[in-house]
Amino acid sequence: MTLTPEQLAEIAEARATTRPTLRATSEGMERHLYVAHEVLDHGLVRVIDYMGDDAAITQAARVSYGRGTKAVQNDEGLIRYLMRHWHSTPFEMCEVKFHVKLPVFVARQWIRHRTANVNEYSARYSILDREFYIPAPEQLAAQSTVNNQGRGELLEGDEAQRVLDILRDDAMRAYDHYENMLSQEGQKGLARELARMNLPANVYTQWYWKVDLHNLFHFLRLRADAHAQYEIRAYAETMCGIVKDWVPLAYAAFEDYRMGGATVSAKGVEVLKRRLAGEAVTQESSGMSKGEWREFEAVWG
Ligand SMILES: Cc1cc2nc3c(=O)[nH]c(=O)nc-3n(C[C@H](O)[C@H](O)[C@H](O)COP(=O)(O)OP(=O)(O)OC[C@H]3O[C@@H](n4cnc5c(N)ncnc54)[C@H](O)[C@@H]3O)c2cc1C
Repeated sequence: MTLTPEQLAEIAEARATTRPTLRATSEGMERHLYVAHEVLDHGLVRVIDYMGDDAAITQAARVSYGRGTKAVQNDEGLIRYLMRHWHSTPFEMCEVKFHVKLPVFVARQWIRHRTANVNEYSARYSILDREFYIPAPEQLAAQSTVNNQGRGELLEGDEAQRVLDILRDDAMRAYDHYENMLSQEGQKGLARELARMNLPANVYTQWYWKVDLHNLFHFLRLRADAHAQYEIRAYAETMCGIVKDWVPLAYAAFEDYRMGGATVSAKGVEVLKRRLAGEAVTQESSGMSKGEWREFEAVWG
């Protein structure tokens, strides 16, 4: 990650300036506030602001006047109940605002999550930095032969080197041309809003991304999952660590019921009951398609 000394000083200054407040704070989240967590080669995630803590969830669920906390065990039980029964609005009472620096192709997947508020760095207004995502060798993999939406074996030796060279050279050449088109030396200089279209999708962009905890959990469920592309997963996993410190009880319930849990169809429930009764059920006798059965067996064995 390439934070300038000025940016680091701004973060240090923000962390050194404390204010008394009547509002609920989370000790775990206070440790993360403003701190830049490195992701990929030039990316980052940092928390700019947040509202609420575990108690804010139970307080909203009980619609109480004060903090509403009976006891930590009560709060834990209530939060687990809310998560288990998809009673989601109390989780919407917590909000978080992130500053994220990410490659454009990751941003394109990320922006599909419509339930957040976004403000992106303007490449019409400002000149983009010469920063491009180049995968680490352990991420440079071939097309998967079993999953059309995934990677398989690693590229090695000359092929890996050739691919890395192409990625670097193309990025640098495109940026040289970008700068050249913008330049006003001996020419009018192309508008920034047009010159940027020449840059590849691995160029870095930045945004502020604000979301409530319910929708953040939805994002993390999809993007910290093994099916998500590694690059967006790297961000989601960093955010999981932050959320775990922010709202430990809610995160534990999320891990248990969503990340680690499994949904089962009515047909699946039937198969499980039949199996428990000692019947050897096969895909053919299950009523499930081959694909469904494969996924069912992956969870239930
Ligand atoms: C592994 C993976 C592979 C994917 N592959 C593809 C792909 O090949 N092509 C592709 O185009 N996308 C793909 N996506 C994106 C995916 O289809 C969703 O667009 C993305 O995950 C955002 O999910 P969401 O709509 O639930 O989230 P959000 O936009 O955050 O919405 C959250 C929830 O709010 C509700 N909601 C929000 N807006 C609306 C609306 N306008 N109308 C109705 N309900 C709404 C829905 O219940 C939704 O689930 C992929 C996602 C993943 C995780």
